[in-house]
Amino acid sequence: MLVHQADSPSSIVGRPSSVFVDSHAHIDGPEFDADRDEVIQRARDAGVRAILNVGTGDPHNGSLERAVELAEHHPDLYAAIGVHPHDARLFDEAAEERIHKLLKASRKVVAWGEIGLDYHYDNSPRDVQRAAFRRQLVLAREAKLPIVIHTREAEDDTIEILRDEWKESGLGGIMHCFSGSLTLAEASLELGLLISFAGVVTFKKADDLRAVAAKVPLDRMLIETDCPYLSPVPYRGRRNEPAHVIEVARAIGTIHGKTVEEIGAITAANFANLFGLRWPCETSA
Ligand SMILES: [Zn+2]
Ligand SMILES: [Zn+2]
Repeated sequence: MLVHQADSPSSIVGRPSSVFVDSHAHIDGPEFDADRDEVIQRARDAGVRAILNVGTGDPHNGSLERAVELAEHHPDLYAAIGVHPHDARLFDEAAEERIHKLLKASRKVVAWGEIGLDYHYDNSPRDVQRAAFRRQLVLAREAKLPIVIHTREAEDDTIEILRDEWKESGLGGIMHCFSGSLTLAEASLELGLLISFAGVVTFKKADDLRAVAAKVPLDRMLIETDCPYLSPVPYRGRRNEPAHVIEVARAIGTIHGKTVEEIGAITAANFANLFGLRWPCETSA
């Protein structure tokens, strides 16, 4: 059971009533080398009380270790580690060993991911992606960790594999940066997953996605930045960062008739429940 104590009050700056969680960020990457501490502070100032930082990249070159180190360094950062579908061709026994070592070393690793299928970029052959996805689902089950799923233009295969390998696990997970169909959203809910929306939901041309978001119950929803990518309106064209998750909350609030603070509090509680964290749930009560 993962139970973390409340963060020290000194690190909570800004509006005390606001609680947001960025459920998917990549702030360990080189895009943030010059000003990472300022980026984290800006998030705290904006009311972002937790960030799930997702380690991706070649699993053999220290990228996963870097993500875990960052989470170890900050009380309000958590880590997910896994081999992204882009890098599925690099997934092997040595990668498994590195991940297992990190899971043993750090309590801040709360999820296995991001894993899944990406048939848009096809950076790894599709059969290799499917094999790495299935294998990591088995490993996540053994490790008793929720998963973070990345899927793009691969809905049918993603649903089929999750039904085979994950449905009975009872461990849950996150369908991250959701940009799929209503069918995928319904299948994700049926699989016990939370659906996380990113800045795409703020884009002018995203009416279809907003229609799907309107049908996702708020108690099954998360918000994320996926930074440095996918800056929401009005920050498009610039590097994204966790403080901007508020713009995603605003868009979801408009869709569901709630305030930005209400969306923040609800999605923060969903995040805390998924990972068995008492915090930031307690601070939102
Ligand atoms: Zn992704
Ligand atoms: Zn990502």
